[in-house]
Amino acid sequence: MNDCCGPEVRPLGVQQALERILASVRQSDATESVSLEQALGRVLAEDVAARVDVPPAANSAMDGYALRHRDFSPGITLPVAGVVPAGAAAPALPSGQAVRIFTGAPIPAGADTVVMQEVCEPVGEGVRLPDSIRKGSNIRPAGEDMTHGQRVLHAGQRLRPQELGLAATAGHGELVVRPRLRVAVLATGDELVAPGEPLGPGQIYDSNSFVLLGLLQRLGCEVSLKSVVADTRPATEQALSDAANRSDLIITSGGVSVGDEDHVKAAVAALGVLDLWRIAIKPGKPVALGKVGETPFLGLPGNPVSVFVTFCLFGRPLVRRMQGEADVSTLRVPVNAAFDLKTDGRSRYLRARIVKQGGELWAEVYGHQGSGVMYSTSWAHGLVEVPPGRQVVKGDQLMYLPYSELLA
Ligand code: AMP
Ligand code: MG
Repeated sequence: MNDCCGPEVRPLGVQQALERILASVRQSDATESVSLEQALGRVLAEDVAARVDVPPAANSAMDGYALRHRDFSPGITLPVAGVVPAGAAAPALPSGQAVRIFTGAPIPAGADTVVMQEVCEPVGEGVRLPDSIRKGSNIRPAGEDMTHGQRVLHAGQRLRPQELGLAATAGHGELVVRPRLRVAVLATGDELVAPGEPLGPGQIYDSNSFVLLGLLQRLGCEVSLKSVVADTRPATEQALSDAANRSDLIITSGGVSVGDEDHVKAAVAALGVLDLWRIAIKPGKPVALGKVGETPFLGLPGNPVSVFVTFCLFGRPLVRRMQGEADVSTLRVPVNAAFDLKTDGRSRYLRARIVKQGGELWAEVYGHQGSGVMYSTSWAHGLVEVPPGRQVVKGDQLMYLPYSELLA
């Protein structure tokens, strides 16, 4: 066990801490089959191959007329043999004729070109064609999107709306996915009161539970809240063991710094394994990783902004990896700093808004970056990352982590 102020005095870098956290994950190989209606946000447990060619048959990309290119000459009028709507089998095209065809309708055998209706002119029972047409135009060939047997989705991919569509078009009504991760969230602290209740002297409302609830629900987790664990060793141990019995991961907030009332560390160490690290990060710092019995445990700091930031940086990749997701990286985009900042040896994560000026993206930061100022997280569009030891001058390039990446 490494205590916060014990032998491992040198704090870990953010990347180093993340690597350690991810290295701790032991994948479960449990799977379940779900219908496409239930599959949004789930992580695929198996590769998915196309069961058919897509499209299954060549079809028209336009409303117009299908014909043989060799029957064409500039301005010719061809008799129209019939109509092919979408969803019908098309009879073969008689030589020297055209057929009326609609978008998505199968190309009749023999036809090799579709002319769009806007450039044609109906003449009696026939159609007058334009002066020039290109052979093969306006036909979507069979297998243009995917071919039978082709792997179109991969194990470890999280299913977004477009993957549901891809699976559907490939012929799958059900998918094999990872089970939902059950996460227990525990808020520790004698000062905490559930929101809506009256506030006594020295008390504050528990907000961390709800931030974590939202962050985890966005990731498709089944979350159980224990919204106030008292600052005693027995209460902390009891809450942790209960949580271990009903969940795949335990996340706590508070109780991991060095105060006398911080019982989480000792309780986890007694019930399982604890690693406590100081991370060179602001807001944040103490983050604990371990196990309660066999259940993985992540201990986040107590300050609300620290909880939000450390979850985004460490909790989120941990959860995603536990869910079986292969790529858990966070996209960072370059922005210009619209501020000056002196830093120390810690990585900073500033709550920032992005404004566009002169075709460039500028990051403005919220005026009060205190770790208790929850409002900053709501005001912001994302987090700006300042590496340790950087003296930021207005106009410097920094990396920005948009909420669309962190909260999706
Ligand atoms: P701790 O690490 O337990 O000393 O907590 C650090 C700070 O975060 C203290 O000011 C706590 O009151 C505050 N805090 C801890 N847990 C919560 C919570 N669930 N909601 C809001 N603030 C909290
Ligand atoms: Mg506390």
